[in-house]
Amino acid sequence: MLHLYNTLTRKKEAFHPREGKQVKLFVCGPTVYDYSHIGHARTYVAFDVIARYLRQQGYAVTYLQNITDIDDRIIERAQQNKKDWQEISTEFTNAYHTDMKALGIDGKIEFAVTTDFIPQVVSQVKRLLEKGVAYKIEDDGYYFDLSKFSDYGKLSGRKALAADDAVSRIDESINKHNAGDFCLWKFSRPGAKIALLLRSAAKSSPEPAWDWETGRQKAIGSTPEQHRDGDGRPGWHIEDTAITEHFFGSQYDIHGGARDLIFPHHEAEIAQMESISGQVPLAKYWLHTGFLTLNGQKMSKSLGNFITIRDLLEKYDATAIRLLILSTHYRSPIDYTEDSIKAAAAGVQRISELISKLSALKANPASYDTIGKLLSTTKQEFATAMDDDFNTAQALAGIFKLIREVNTQLRDNRVSDAAAQEILALLGNFNQVLGIIPTNIETVPGEITQLIETRELLRRDKRYSEADDVRAQITAKGYRLDDTSNGPLISCK
Ligand code: AMP
Repeated sequence: MLHLYNTLTRKKEAFHPREGKQVKLFVCGPTVYDYSHIGHARTYVAFDVIARYLRQQGYAVTYLQNITDIDDRIIERAQQNKKDWQEISTEFTNAYHTDMKALGIDGKIEFAVTTDFIPQVVSQVKRLLEKGVAYKIEDDGYYFDLSKFSDYGKLSGRKALAADDAVSRIDESINKHNAGDFCLWKFSRPGAKIALLLRSAAKSSPEPAWDWETGRQKAIGSTPEQHRDGDGRPGWHIEDTAITEHFFGSQYDIHGGARDLIFPHHEAEIAQMESISGQVPLAKYWLHTGFLTLNGQKMSKSLGNFITIRDLLEKYDATAIRLLILSTHYRSPIDYTEDSIKAAAAGVQRISELISKLSALKANPASYDTIGKLLSTTKQEFATAMDDDFNTAQALAGIFKLIREVNTQLRDNRVSDAAAQEILALLGNFNQVLGIIPTNIETVPGEITQLIETRELLRRDKRYSEADDVRAQITAKGYRLDDTSNGPLISCK
């Protein structure tokens, strides 16, 4: 029975979707103003595996993601690059899809681009105004009144009517009723430039704005005469509920994102949608990933301490990046180091080597009784680990235990070809969920594998000087050997 940790209730719960085997899953997508980094990869690989596992368990998963294509940072980047904001968002939306595909994120995601849903956003803001939970600040925008939503703080455990850290630039206004009130819709001023741009650039572009009545985008540079009261653009949180309401209705099964979104973003989504519909809860289960950090600090575009997915893919296969991410439980932080990615690459090599050996196994009548038992135990351990809040770290530990034991049996020539096929099938089954087996397995020549094994045995027996001689032989043959926590990583020099 699958159990998952629900941020909303702060405990592990048995998973029961709202309707039979249907699962509606929404994960906050990227704000597209730069290339995605491996912190993003952490969150999206985690949810890719969650969706894959649910599907393998027979759930019909609708996995929805939004793409934030209008935001202060996009406009700012456009300004810096002397481009139109739409050029920036199109360029980085395409880059995002390319990077996700390269990471083996398997495409069964419905993407909703924010600016395609402005009429839905406007409709939500209007309903909040009608219910009296939103108010207008002249020449500024419509704001959510936190004092009208008594459940505010239930996800994060914070009561934050006065929280200063709850606001982003778009939410700044001295006329707000409560310090934590957030902007739902920001008015544009006729002919005005984005204020923040004026700080950084003398030559700024007109504010992008949408018509308050039709939700259509105004022509860039529209004149004061074309401006109508209420024209503007969405606040930070409203796009998500407008999109999820459109696709899923006012309630759904799982909402995901990284933990920085719990407060204020997800809290604001709850306030918006539950105020509009009166139906509680917006999402039944809330899942949050831990951060990927660099030297203990969250990897982020704004801090500038990031490694892009495409740069890392120049050096390592996507399967190594996935293995690195999945070796830690999705809720725990991962501190990225060069050693950790090398260890993951070595792990992928271990799996690949076993697959090559098993695929090449010639007819061998040896008994495989012990393998049969080993396979059923490993299968059971995998299911137990994944059912325990998608514990991929535990699931991988079981897979590597299987690899070690099969290797021992292979050395003793005790694996039959029928058993080899069964092992390959089981690994294929695990791979459907984890995506850690490369499509093109590069095989290291048998003589090098042999030398690596000899060196490992010498090291085990503490015969280090002989082990060093073997390493020298490997190097002389044109290979580089790095020792990692997952064993040796071999690469061409
Ligand atoms: P953004 O484009 O910055 O809005 O981020 C898109 C998604 O990636 C959100 O769910 C973020 O919380 C998540 N994310 C961003 N940086 C990291 C990180 N360093 N580690 C894990 N997830 C992250």
